[in-house]
Amino acid sequence: MPYTKPLPKIRPYTKEFWEAAKQGELLIQHCKDCDKNIFYPREVCPKCQSTHLEYIKSGGRGRLFSFSLVEKGAPPDFKEDQPYVICLVNMYEKVRIGSMLVGYDDYAALKLGQEVEVVFDPVTDDIHLPKFKPVGSDFSFKK
Ligand SMILES: [Zn+2]
Repeated sequence: MPYTKPLPKIRPYTKEFWEAAKQGELLIQHCKDCDKNIFYPREVCPKCQSTHLEYIKSGGRGRLFSFSLVEKGAPPDFKEDQPYVICLVNMYEKVRIGSMLVGYDDYAALKLGQEVEVVFDPVTDDIHLPKFKPVGSDFSFKK
């Protein structure tokens, strides 16, 4: 089945990000002028408006800042995925990433502050979406 959900557009300044994702590496941006780390990828630093941004490798781990089970009311493109869990992850590189949580055994056992790690969902040849799973989960997306 072809992937029918909305996809990110690959732009000149996000090409490196999506190429790394295909290799299973999460990149975040770092501003060379104000030293702030940035996520999601942008052309301009949201703190100081500098364009001197570089990609750095993330360790891929962080802690659950928030999460929620979506059982009803998902946007039309995501209805078939219900129930699913959306999450906000505080990465150790001090950026917050909004994504989906996968590979957990029991929703009721999830805890704020729980350590999670990135796992890439290869939804198309070009786009491997970063999602998160509890550290220790052996879950992976099949290619
Ligand atoms: Zn900056």
